[in-house]
Amino acid sequence: MKVTEHIAQAKDTLISFEILPPLKGKSIESIYDHLDPLMEFKPAFINVTYHRSEHMFKKRADGSFEKVEIRKRPGTVGICAAIMNHYNVDAVPHLICGGFSREETENALIDLNFLGVDNVLVLRGDAPKNETFFEPDPHGHRYAIELLQQVVNMNNGIYQEEDLQGGLKTKFCIGVAGYPEKHFESPNMQTDISHLKRKVEQGADYIVTQMFFNNQKFFDFVAKCREMGITVPIIPGLKPLTSKKQLTVLPRTFFVDIPDELASEVMKCKTDKEVEEVGTRWLIQQSRELKQFGVPVLHYYTLGKPNVIKTVVEAII
Ligand code: FAD
Repeated sequence: MKVTEHIAQAKDTLISFEILPPLKGKSIESIYDHLDPLMEFKPAFINVTYHRSEHMFKKRADGSFEKVEIRKRPGTVGICAAIMNHYNVDAVPHLICGGFSREETENALIDLNFLGVDNVLVLRGDAPKNETFFEPDPHGHRYAIELLQQVVNMNNGIYQEEDLQGGLKTKFCIGVAGYPEKHFESPNMQTDISHLKRKVEQGADYIVTQMFFNNQKFFDFVAKCREMGITVPIIPGLKPLTSKKQLTVLPRTFFVDIPDELASEVMKCKTDKEVEEVGTRWLIQQSRELKQFGVPVLHYYTLGKPNVIKTVVEAII
């Protein structure tokens, strides 16, 4: 079922989770171990992130180094199929522009359609870790809106090869990303939201946001989107703060602010266990407020912390 259908039929705020594919070499059991404790909350859907390959240097026998491309977390499409089969719940694969040609994307979408996946979250992706700027694949897309257009085309039976026979029309419900604290490359919020609006005009059905720790930023973002004519559902993305290190890592990696009140409490903690308790309490409070505000879904980035998410969801349902 489509994410938008889940939202339309919901009588209360829905819950959804997001997971990462395991590192190459790990089994699907690691995904089940991660999700099992959360399934009692009957998530409406589960997102699975998509990862590009990274450039690495591999040592040759003669001691010299060779530059290789390694994709550490493959398996998004397979994991989505496994989740749907194992739990009978909708899976939402992420798709990214970076590192993929239009044809590879088309083939992934064909696989997803054959597997009965109804949803995709389309994203640009970022530059590989050791590179500063995002560069598209020579045969790929520069912006998420181009990837979105490819999915919309396939929903209309239009493929990369013009003379394709068959005309299968896919029916993907399409989500896109939004940034309550602005995307880091955007000159200002107005410009960023105008690009978001174009994605919605081109066919995006809903928006999921980057994590944030100050609800007021989300409320302001929703107000600005509505003022600029974006009417689709906006789903808040939520992550617990669970270690002191994250006070610097999260702002540096995701360009999000940690409110002073939360940062001060975390600074007082002596162990990461204490930080986890502070982060859990904060996320419970955030979730309650967002629920009261009327968000359609509370979307939790579980990232190795299913126990924390379990405590949070238990406290708010
Ligand atoms: P875009 O919409 O392409 O925007 C990128 C930048 O370009 C923005 O500054 C925007 O304002 C600007 N822009 C957009 N369109 C245009 C245009 N036509 N002309 C000029 N400027 C434009 N990354 C992964 O690699 N894998 C994942 O699974 C993943 N999941 C994510 C899930 C969520 C909910 C979020 C919020 C992010 C996720 N990301 C993921 C990270 C995401 O790929 C990065 O944040 C990336 O930098 C931007 O992606 P986007 O889809 O917002 O890009």
